[in-house]
Amino acid sequence: EKEEAPAPPVKEKVSSTAGIRHILAIASGKGGVGKSTVTANLAVTLRDMGYSVGILDADIYGPSMPKMFGVEGYTPQAILRDEQEYILPAETGGIKIASIGFFISPDDALIWRGPMATTALKQLLHQTLWEGLDYLLIDLPPGTGDVHLSVVGEVKVNGAIVVSTPQQVAVADVRRGVNMFRAEGIDVPVLGIIENMAWFTPAELPNNRYYLFGKGGARNMARTEGIDFLGDIPIVQSVMEGGENGTPAVSIHPEVKKYYREIADKIVE
Ligand code: ADP
Repeated sequence: EKEEAPAPPVKEKVSSTAGIRHILAIASGKGGVGKSTVTANLAVTLRDMGYSVGILDADIYGPSMPKMFGVEGYTPQAILRDEQEYILPAETGGIKIASIGFFISPDDALIWRGPMATTALKQLLHQTLWEGLDYLLIDLPPGTGDVHLSVVGEVKVNGAIVVSTPQQVAVADVRRGVNMFRAEGIDVPVLGIIENMAWFTPAELPNNRYYLFGKGGARNMARTEGIDFLGDIPIVQSVMEGGENGTPAVSIHPEVKKYYREIADKIVE
C-alpha cells in the first residue's frame, strides 16, 4: 500500500486589515444623497490631518471612487509578500483605493449582484495591501442589504457614519439604516449623521441660505434618535465638479474644507 505524502504545512492566512486602527463604514438610506462624495472628501481631510487613509469602495451598484479620484484606468496587480498573495490598491495623494469598479466595466455592473459581488468584496477587503492604516473608510451601497451584513460580519467595523439630505423621505430611510447598525449581533456604533446638500448660497447673495430640500431634517432626526449630529455641508458647485474631475473639493475649496474639517474633528476625537 502506498503511503500518502504528508501535506505541506499550511500557513495561516492573515487578513490584510489586521493592522488597521479604525474601520469606518459610510452608509446612506438611499442613493444620490452624496455618500460617495462625503467618503472621498472625508478621506482627503483625514489625510490632510496626517492620518494614513484607505478607501474600500463597496458600492457594487455604482462604484464611484475610481472616477472621484481620477484612477479609472487602474488595473489591480497581485503581488506576493511573505508567501501571501496581496492585491495592490490604486494610490493617489497617499490614499489607497480598492474598488470593485477596477474589475468591471460600468455596463457589466448588473451581473455583480448577489454572492459573486460579496465574494469579490471579501477578497478586496482581506487581500488588499493596506499596510496598516489609521483609517479605512468603506463606502457601502445605499440602503441596507447583503453587502452591509457581509462587511460587518467580516471585520470589526469601529463606527458607521450615515449621510442624508434634509428631505423627509431620506430621513425615514436613514432611520432604517441606523437601526440596522444598532441591531443585536451587528452592534456597530453609529458615530453620527452628516446632512449633505443642506442649503445653497448663490455667489451673488453670499449672506443668503436657501434650504432647497427643507431645513434641518437630519439634524432634528439625530436629536430624536439620540445620535450625534456630525455637521452639515451645503450644495456647492465645486463639490459636484470635484466628483467629476477626480479632485475632491476639499483640496481646492476653503469653505468646503472647513465644513469637512469640523466633521473630521468629531470623528477622530
Ligand atoms: P451617493 O454616493 O449617495 O449615490 P454621490 O456621492 O454619487 O451620491 O452624489 C450624487 C451627486 O450629487 C453627484 O453628482 C455629486 O457630485 C453631487 N453632490 C454630492 N454632494 C454635493 C454637494 N454638497 N454639493 C453639490 N453637489 C453634490
